[in-house]
Amino acid sequence: MSTTTNKETLGFQSEVKQILHLMIHSLYSNKEIFLRELISNASDAAEKLRFEALNNHDLYEGEEELDIRIEYDKDNRTLKITDNGIGMSRQEVIDNVGTIARSGTKSFLQQLTGDAAKDSQLIGQFGVGFYSTFIIADEVTLETRRAGLDASEGVRWVSKGEGDYTLETIHKPVRGTSVTLMLKEGEDEFLDGFTLRHIIKKYSDHINLPIMLPKETLAEEEDASPGELETVNQATALWTLPKNEVSEEEYQNFYKMMAHDFESPLAWTHNRVEGKLDYTYLLYIPSRAPFDLYEVERQQGVKLYVNRVFILEDKENLMPRYLRFIRGVFDSSDLPLNVSREILQQNKAVDSMRAGAVKKILTVLERMAENDVETYQKFWDQFGRVMKEGPSEDFSNKDQIANLLRFASTYNGEPAQTVSLRDYISRMQEGQETIYYITADSFIAGKNSPHLEVFRKKGIEVLILSDSVDEWMTSHLTEFEGHPISSVARGELGLEDFESDSEKEQKQKAEAELKDVLTRIKEQLNEKVEEVRFTSRLTESPACLVVGEQDMSMNLERMLKAAGHDVPHVKPILEVNPTHPIVKQLAEEQSEERFHDWSMVLFEQALLSEGGQLDDPATFVHRLNSLLFEMVG
Ligand code: ADP
Repeated sequence: MSTTTNKETLGFQSEVKQILHLMIHSLYSNKEIFLRELISNASDAAEKLRFEALNNHDLYEGEEELDIRIEYDKDNRTLKITDNGIGMSRQEVIDNVGTIARSGTKSFLQQLTGDAAKDSQLIGQFGVGFYSTFIIADEVTLETRRAGLDASEGVRWVSKGEGDYTLETIHKPVRGTSVTLMLKEGEDEFLDGFTLRHIIKKYSDHINLPIMLPKETLAEEEDASPGELETVNQATALWTLPKNEVSEEEYQNFYKMMAHDFESPLAWTHNRVEGKLDYTYLLYIPSRAPFDLYEVERQQGVKLYVNRVFILEDKENLMPRYLRFIRGVFDSSDLPLNVSREILQQNKAVDSMRAGAVKKILTVLERMAENDVETYQKFWDQFGRVMKEGPSEDFSNKDQIANLLRFASTYNGEPAQTVSLRDYISRMQEGQETIYYITADSFIAGKNSPHLEVFRKKGIEVLILSDSVDEWMTSHLTEFEGHPISSVARGELGLEDFESDSEKEQKQKAEAELKDVLTRIKEQLNEKVEEVRFTSRLTESPACLVVGEQDMSMNLERMLKAAGHDVPHVKPILEVNPTHPIVKQLAEEQSEERFHDWSMVLFEQALLSEGGQLDDPATFVHRLNSLLFEMVG
C-alpha cells in the first residue's frame, strides 16, 4: 500500500450528512453495534465472493480460506477489521459508502421523530451500518480492492464523518476490505480483547465465517507468540444446528445481527424438512414494522442459501407479499447453485418451500393469538394492515388468515383493532347469520354513521373497518366459518327477523301513507340516484345512501378516484326513513320548489354523513339556510 495516486475529496450527499450527524449524536447508548455492523458487512462480502467464485474460481486469487480479522493498537488507539471477501472497486466505494443513493433515504429521514431512542432503532433497520463507526471513531479509513482487479487498483477512503471524504488509489496486494477506526477520546474499552470477544460472541457467534483476534490479547494466552490469531466465534451457520442446541438468546442475537434490529423478534420458527425436498428455514417475526413496509423498493427480504452458500436476498418468491415483514433464511440443497431470480419465479421446489414455511408461520401466529394475547396484539398493531392483504393473495390459507384478523368494533366502540371474527360470532344475536361491517375513511366516521342506527337499536355488533386495505380485503373475504360477511351499506339487510310484529305493522302503515313521496323524490333526484326506497337501517336519521349488493362501495370508489384510477360511477340508492318527521312532512309539501330543496338536502346530507363530498357545497348551504329560515321565520 505504498504508492498513492489520484487523491480527490468528495462531498457526501446532504442526506448522508444528516444521517451521520444523527448517528454520532443519538446512537451513543448502543455504540457497540458498530462492530456487529462491520462484521456483518465483512460476512456479506465473504458470501458475495463465494457466490461469484462459483462461476469464476480465479476470484479466490489462490486464497480460499475466508475469515475476518480484528486487531487493535493501544498506543495509536486504532481498531482494525479486515476481511478477504469480495472487496470494492473505486466506483463501488463511491456508490456504497460515499453517497447513500438509496431509494428509501428520504422517507427514512422523514420518519425520524427527534426522539433519540426511537430514532436509533430506525437507523439500525435502515442499514446505514457502516456509518455507525462514527459513533466511536474520529476518523475512519477503509482500504479495499475488489477480487479479480489488479493490485494497483486498490482504493483508500478516509473520512472524519463530517462533510466529505477523500479517495485515493493505492496498491493493495490482498483482495478484500479493511476498516481502521481512529477511536475518539474515551472509547478505549474497544481496545481490549475481552470486550471485543464478548461483543463478537454476542452478535456474531453464528456467522458462517471465522472471526479472529490476536491470541496475546486474551489474558489466558500470555505465552502466545505475537501475531498469532485465534478464532473466537463458533463459525457455524446457526440454522444448520439442531434446535435443541440453540438457546433463545442465540436465536435472538442472530436475528438482531441479520435484520439490523435492536429489538428481539416476537417469535421464530426453525425447521428442517427432509423428504422429496430437503430444506431448512429459520424465519423470524420482528416486533416492529420496518420503515419501508409499504414501499415498492423495500430493502430487506429473506435470504436464500444453497448448501450454506448465500445466493440472494429475495423479496418476491420465498414469502408472499402479505408476509413481507418476515426475516430469515432458507437453505436448500435441492436448488442449483446458479439459481437466479428468474429461476426462482417458476420453480416447483421454491413453491413448495414457501407453502410449507407459510403454513408454519400462520400456525405460529395462531398459537400466539391463542396463548399470548398481549404479544399477538403487539404483532397486529405493527403488521395487521399487511396481514389484511392475505385473504386476497393467499387463497389456500384464507380461513387460517381470516381467523388471525382483528378489527375495531361497535362492541367496545374503540379504535383499537382487537376483535376477531370468532369473537364476533360468539356474540351474535339469536337468529343472526351474517357478520356485519362498515367501511369508512376513519374510525369515527364509521362509528357514527347513520348506517349503524338500526344495529345499535337491536344490539347487533358491527365491525368498523377504516384501513384503506379493508375494502380490498372485504371484496375477497365474503364468508367465515359458514357466516356471510356483509357491508351494512350494501343491498338489503335481511334484519326483518329482528323486528317485532308491532314494529313491522307501524312501518307498513307509514310506508303505505308515504308511497307517493318516494316517486316524487325520485323525480327530483333522477340524475343522482338509482332508486329511492324505504329503509330498514335508520332509526334517527331521515335518509342514507347505500349501494346494490354487487356494486362497488362508495368508499372504495372515492379511494380509487383519489388514487387517480378511472372508475365508473355507481349511482347509489337513497333510502328514506318513513318514521322521520321530515319525511312525513314532505308528504304534505305543496310547493314544488320546496319539495325540490328538501329532496336535495336529504340526498346531500346522506352523502355527507356517508363520507362523500358535495359537487356544489355553496348551493347546499344556501338551500339549507333558506329551509331553516322558513322554519324559524
Ligand atoms: P448495508 O450493509 O446495510 O448495505 P452499510 O452502510 O453497512 O449498509 O454498507 C453499505 C454497502 O457498502 C454494503 O451494502 C456493501 O455493498 C458495501 N460494503 C460495506 N462494507 C463492505 C466490505 N467489508 N466489503 C465489501 N463491501 C462492503
